[in-house]
Amino acid sequence: MESLEVLLLDPMNEYLEQELDRRCRLVRLWESPPDRRADFVRAHAASIRAVVGSPGYGAYAALIDSLPALEIIASFSVGIDHIDLAKCKERGIRVTNTPDVLTDDVADLAVGLAIATLRKIPQADRYVRAGQWKNHNGAFTLTTRFSGKRVGIIGLGRIGLAIARRVEAFDCPVNYHQRTKQAYPSYTYYPSAVELAANSDVLVVACLLSAQTRHIVNREVMEALGPKGVLINIGRGAHVDEAELVAALVDGRLGGAGLDVFEDEPNVPEALFPLDNVVLGPHVGSGTHGTRTAMVDLVLGNLEAHASNEPLLTPVV
Ligand code: NAP
Repeated sequence: MESLEVLLLDPMNEYLEQELDRRCRLVRLWESPPDRRADFVRAHAASIRAVVGSPGYGAYAALIDSLPALEIIASFSVGIDHIDLAKCKERGIRVTNTPDVLTDDVADLAVGLAIATLRKIPQADRYVRAGQWKNHNGAFTLTTRFSGKRVGIIGLGRIGLAIARRVEAFDCPVNYHQRTKQAYPSYTYYPSAVELAANSDVLVVACLLSAQTRHIVNREVMEALGPKGVLINIGRGAHVDEAELVAALVDGRLGGAGLDVFEDEPNVPEALFPLDNVVLGPHVGSGTHGTRTAMVDLVLGNLEAHASNEPLLTPVV
């Protein structure tokens, strides 16, 4: 694919950048100062045929409109909420993502966040490092058990199902909500997020982000989860009404939260920082060496397939 000119929107991964540089004609958007990007894109517009983006660096309508020769957007993510799919369909632009290869890592992190939040693992670590164990004669606060808790999952897709399988090993009954009721014999379906929350101790958000799932965890859902309930979000920040979440946690109307994603990343509401019932992560669900390499290989494989007119490996559009 030496002749394929690819616009990379952000230095998201060293191996990805190196391989794109080696295999095709790479254009790095960040080489232009932010206030000159429109001119920079215009200068390359006639020849850019592919864009590689990520959740933090999307291919929205304005970018797509400015690239008349664009043929394919290969996303370095499974979620494609940062791509204007309607516009891509209208223009016949292909879109690919990176499903499956990251499922296990994201599911691991969801379970890890749930246990870390209930058992206060980060706080225990800070307690030891600060020398408080010695000073207080071992009296770290008692915490809450995870095993056996009712786990509610919004979105029993690839990642949601992997979370369900993991928590079953902790003797957790699994409940779920999504648009389609499936025939799982041991998982209980609820037709709404509120009903799911009312019947769960730990509520995990694992659905895709769309207009329908934006703020699917709203005040009503948080009230239903209640002061002993814990919210885990490894989906997208916009799944949760963050202002309501902060208020519910500060007021003690929600028991706790383990959050890998936020509405305005990398800005995290500072009101969360002093809270003892919250564990925060910098959007690292898929962030292991092996998975990120597998994601890069999928992005490259899709571009190679496109350049040689072969079927795409993981097409979305
Ligand atoms: P998937 O297999 O496509 O699953 C998506 C799930 O969302 C399905 O269960 C689907 O069920 C459900 N869903 C869709 N629309 C819904 C609606 N209106 N209400 C309720 N549920 C709805 O996707 P996946 O591979 O599991 O990935 C899920 C999401 O995880 C991604 O889209 C991404 O946002 C997020 N993610 C985050 C990280 C991270 O680093 N934190 C990493 C990877 C992925 P129905 O179609 O039956 O409704």
